[in-house]
Amino acid sequence: MSFDVAAIREQFPILKREIDGNPLIYLDNAATTQKPQCVIDALVEYYTTCNSNVHRGAHRLADEATRHFEAARDIVKDFINAPKREEVIWTTGTTEGINIVANGLAALLSAGDEVIATGMEHHANLVTWQQACKASGATLKTVPVLESGELDLDAYQALLSAHTKFVAFPHVSNALGTVNPIKEMTAKAKQFGALVLVDGAQGAAHRKIDVQEIGCDFYAFSGHKIYGPMGIGALWGKESVLAEWPVWRTGGEMISTVTLQDATWNVLPYRFEAGTPNVGDAIAMGEAIRWLSALDREAVEAHEKALLDHATALAEQFEGLTIIGKARDKAGVLSFVMDHGHPADIGFLLDRQGIAVRTGDHCAQPLMARFNVPGTARVSFSIYNTLEEVDALFAALKKVRSMLA
Ligand code: PMP
Repeated sequence: MSFDVAAIREQFPILKREIDGNPLIYLDNAATTQKPQCVIDALVEYYTTCNSNVHRGAHRLADEATRHFEAARDIVKDFINAPKREEVIWTTGTTEGINIVANGLAALLSAGDEVIATGMEHHANLVTWQQACKASGATLKTVPVLESGELDLDAYQALLSAHTKFVAFPHVSNALGTVNPIKEMTAKAKQFGALVLVDGAQGAAHRKIDVQEIGCDFYAFSGHKIYGPMGIGALWGKESVLAEWPVWRTGGEMISTVTLQDATWNVLPYRFEAGTPNVGDAIAMGEAIRWLSALDREAVEAHEKALLDHATALAEQFEGLTIIGKARDKAGVLSFVMDHGHPADIGFLLDRQGIAVRTGDHCAQPLMARFNVPGTARVSFSIYNTLEEVDALFAALKKVRSMLA
């Protein structure tokens, strides 16, 4: 199989948009990816043919909705090579997945226990552990980030001890693009018997995921960053851990029996899925994964690497521009600052030329503080971007530089 970027672009209707007469160049894919027509169609199809509440209906539409909804769970299971479908919990996104784990963890932690996260977290994978530690009296430790934008793995090793109960880190940094050695980091934590969560919000789009090979206990990701809808995601967690954990939200579906004074809990995964689920978006996320998985993933990775390599080479020659984060293994992201102009000015002036990038702290304030910058301009690539778009970005940046200097 090969990779035909023109054919891919044809499948994304939004890419035909113009912004003030300029063709849209969408380089904000780490925030959210655009959706192929088949995903949009899957949503419309669901609402036009079988919209119904799942699991409890005694009629045709409910049966069909349930079948498609549960089939989408199987698609997620296969996508990350989870051993069991019961271990795949539908969430609203990575943030909720992390919060489900924090809820269970808070009940296990006590004073003297330690939790380790890193200095490159998205706030979702940091503030949550801060709160879990505050509630339980446990201590939060963080792995420092090197000047290269890589984690200090010696420091990580030194932080691990018999007190370490839980470790969390991102597969790929949303702010710098650093790809972390998650398998090795997991193995180290496991030597001390700690539970491990990988924040896969950025990893799922750019790398093939095999949770059994990684060896972690939890992997959380969002549908909207892998060509699916917003408001849906998945948390994978080991049955042996989740089955013992306290419930998360309470309500319908997550119970087994209820009396006026008490209740018993449903089996996994329903135990963690209180209330009416987001059926249509789950089905459309399944379609997004089906679409992505049908592509030659190695060719996709090679294409995204070519985009990043080309952009990095142009950035290195660009006077007055400093790249933040130069890890050896990066995916999808080029973050930078310029000598003149705040990142917000850069974003504004690029937008005037039809180019969408993200500016600011990228929900990673401690990381921005580490690099002593107020924020960065972040260019993030996806499957449908082209080398010509990268050239157009740097031509536009030249104009930006002349306006801000
Ligand atoms: N972690 C990382 C690394 C992210 O990039 C994001 C989204 N920017 C999140 C967590 C949170 O994902 P969501 O907003 O989809 O819940």
